[in-house]
Amino acid sequence: MRVLLFLAAILGLAALPLQAQAQAGRPGNVNDMILEVMRTDLGKDKEAMAMWLPQEFFVAAGMTQAPGLDSRELEKELAFLKDYAVFMVQAKTKGEDGPVSLSTSQLRALATLVDESGRSVKPLTELPAKVEATLNAVRQGFSAKGREDFRLLVFPGRSQDGGPLMASPTRRGAISLRLAKVDAFPGMALTWKTPLASFVKPVACAKCGEPLQPAWSFCPWCAQPAGK
Ligand SMILES: [Zn+2]
Repeated sequence: MRVLLFLAAILGLAALPLQAQAQAGRPGNVNDMILEVMRTDLGKDKEAMAMWLPQEFFVAAGMTQAPGLDSRELEKELAFLKDYAVFMVQAKTKGEDGPVSLSTSQLRALATLVDESGRSVKPLTELPAKVEATLNAVRQGFSAKGREDFRLLVFPGRSQDGGPLMASPTRRGAISLRLAKVDAFPGMALTWKTPLASFVKPVACAKCGEPLQPAWSFCPWCAQPAGK
């Protein structure tokens, strides 16, 4: 799968969020996306960072790496990722000799993904070969960038009762990644409120024309309800 070649390079971007800001500002821009998918939780005895990697992010990153590609073709090639919610997580706790990163199996045991209606899912332990191959490419990107402390958590895209996707960067909702407390690690919760601006078309207020964040219900300048 040719797209795997691009994924290692994506992680180069992911490891350098500040440099990536240089090209920020265009809608659908992967640099803006990186800033929006990242959350941190720093505090006493903990240092946690997570990046949500929606399928749309992989597509945008692939297009950045190979602008000549047909985006619909890439979309199709990566469509299987829609069935999963992928997070890159780094969580450190206080160890005897300094900070210690929690392992993948520790994180899998501690993590829960919760949506805005309270539905929750646990990370998968067995992954289909196609998903595993994609993640291996991402992992190679980490180690090439000296980011071996990042772990990948893959959640099922839907809860057992079916229903809508647990997380989509383009619809209105919220997704929280929670890690339970363990030993010296006090636990954490990181939340992404959606839609994320860089994943959807920009909107303007119908009354005053000012640009609106897609997650806003009202125009902050003239109080016009958004989408009216
Ligand atoms: Zn307005």
